Amino acid sequence: MEQVNYTKCLIVGGGPAGFTAAIYASRANLQPILYEGIQPGGQLTTTTEVENFPGYPDGISGPQLMEDLRAQAKKYGADIRQGQVTKVDFEHRPFSVTIDGDTVITAETVIIATGASARYLGLPDEQKYMGMGVSACATCDGFFYRKKVVAVVGGGDTACEEALYLSTLAKKVYLIVRKDYLRASKVMQRRVLEKENITVLFNTNTVGLFGDEVVEGARLVENVGTEREQHFEIAIDGFFLAIGHSPNTEVFKPYIALDDAGFIALQGNTTATNVEGVFAAGDVADPRYRQAVSAAGTGCRAAIDAERFLLEN
Ligand code: NDP
Repeated sequence: MEQVNYTKCLIVGGGPAGFTAAIYASRANLQPILYEGIQPGGQLTTTTEVENFPGYPDGISGPQLMEDLRAQAKKYGADIRQGQVTKVDFEHRPFSVTIDGDTVITAETVIIATGASARYLGLPDEQKYMGMGVSACATCDGFFYRKKVVAVVGGGDTACEEALYLSTLAKKVYLIVRKDYLRASKVMQRRVLEKENITVLFNTNTVGLFGDEVVEGARLVENVGTEREQHFEIAIDGFFLAIGHSPNTEVFKPYIALDDAGFIALQGNTTATNVEGVFAAGDVADPRYRQAVSAAGTGCRAAIDAERFLLEN
């Protein structure tokens, strides 16, 4: 069957926001095409247990949740494809969106649900040891560090979750926190602080990594800029970043207005962007909540906004 490259609604991104938008857009008969990028399923596929998505009293694994959302979108007719958006032309409607440099999709409306990607500290050593002990995904790479010593950087829920996950595999886990407190939720803080093989290093920054070919240790500074400043090293086999995420907006920047932090700026209490007919949902437009359920909620709203826009135009 020949592939149709025209749609009333193109959805870019295969996380909870994108798939929920696809469920709603399909049921509204918009015959959406959804493109999943290089990480099908989005950030949730790198998470272990999701305990706070309503409807799963016993929790559900991230990948299973994404499988279920994908299946639900498919059931109602969403055309789910793999590919990266490499260029957009939002000058006129219908819009043109280029996939992988060659396929051009013509779309009456576009929902951007491209999510966010892991942040790095910006140390040259992170690049040097990338894949050789440096990782931004404990769930993906933790397996390689069984019975070894690892460090996780960050003090939020992600860092605590990753430290706890790694503590079930590794012999010892350092949690490197730049402030004197954890920003994570109370329940996560308690779990981390109570775990015997996790050592939290408060007021500590990483300044470098060392090792022949692979990571063998990290250079740290405690109480930086104070009288008690102290430089020291820890021996580790793995260095995991968990310091938040940056929104994936690069390809849309020529047309779409962003806020000061680089997230897509929305119009009032809607999912509309500054370009009429282009909407945004999920983490790409949400610096505040960044939850699977809130992303799914905005995906629903974006599909309804797109449907109303098409009715009015
Ligand atoms: P957060 O933004 O909440 O936390 C980022 C952490 O990294 C903070 O401790 C921050 O330190 C630290 N950090 C940032 N930049 C640097 C740096 N350059 N050097 C050292 N440390 C740095 O991000 P998360 O990814 O943890 O969480 C994002 C959202 O997702 C939150 O709302 C969180 O609650 C939610 N979440 C929920 C989960 C759940 O409920 N199961 C699981 C995972 C995430 P500082 O505090 O000093 O700014």
